[in-house]
Amino acid sequence: MPRIAPEIAVLGAVLVAVIGVTVFAFVSLPDRYDPFAPLDVRAEPAPVVTRLKLAQIRRDRTACEAALASSGLKIQRVAHLQQQGCALTDVVHVAPENRVFGQGFHATCPLAVGLALYMRYVVQPAARRHLGQEIVQVQHLGTFACRPIRNGKAPRAPQEAEAGEPVQMSEHAAANAIDIVGFRARDGRVISIGKHWRKDKPLQLASAAPTAETGKAGPTNARPKNSSPTATAKTPPTAAGLLPLDDAAAAAFLREVRDGACGIFHAVLGPDYNALHRSHFHFDMGRYRQCR
Ligand SMILES: [Zn+2]
Repeated sequence: MPRIAPEIAVLGAVLVAVIGVTVFAFVSLPDRYDPFAPLDVRAEPAPVVTRLKLAQIRRDRTACEAALASSGLKIQRVAHLQQQGCALTDVVHVAPENRVFGQGFHATCPLAVGLALYMRYVVQPAARRHLGQEIVQVQHLGTFACRPIRNGKAPRAPQEAEAGEPVQMSEHAAANAIDIVGFRARDGRVISIGKHWRKDKPLQLASAAPTAETGKAGPTNARPKNSSPTATAKTPPTAAGLLPLDDAAAAAFLREVRDGACGIFHAVLGPDYNALHRSHFHFDMGRYRQCR
């Protein structure tokens, strides 16, 4: 009987152990940790694995449909949607019966799945933690708009571009993005990005007022007229009835739902990005990964 070299024996044993552990892991792991299991919106997201599954639903329509079916969202399929020069096929209409989004809206499948995950695992836990109650309505400006990316220059419709001039269309032109301006809590108070976003970490508010919106990306005088320059203990209650203490809670809530969005949507742009986003969060499921 030929002798097996000790190195080969050890290598073989390691290989068998690795295969055994891998098989055991995939057989016994819950689906949320299994990168090959379909994305299920009812299962709590798992680090890394959920991101892989989200990347997959952006590429794979069948996988996205399965995830959407698990979301509990009431939707209608829309075979064809046209606005100006933008013609879309295979989008969904998220129905008004999903009351948390107010009016119905059109969306790509990945955007609809992302929003379902976002509400369940980011917005509502943050609202319970910081506001002591749930969010009953997301206030948004819609999803579908046939327009190029806004970059601070005069907006132009695609048909107005010079011949040969490249036009980079917004993810809104594919109904693949949503602009969120605020969140209405169960007691009726509205947490508004334009009013309550703080550039500095919210915890610093109690002792020192932030230096307002002198952001790197936008002009120094870009603060909107309706935003309060600072939030201090002397800030009077707002029209929505928020007390000064609630300003800090609202800011902490907004910070958490912006940061949490980066784990779900492919691009997240807010007031820290530039002056064009000073009063809303832009979330999309497009090609470019950003979290700002
Ligand atoms: Zn947008």
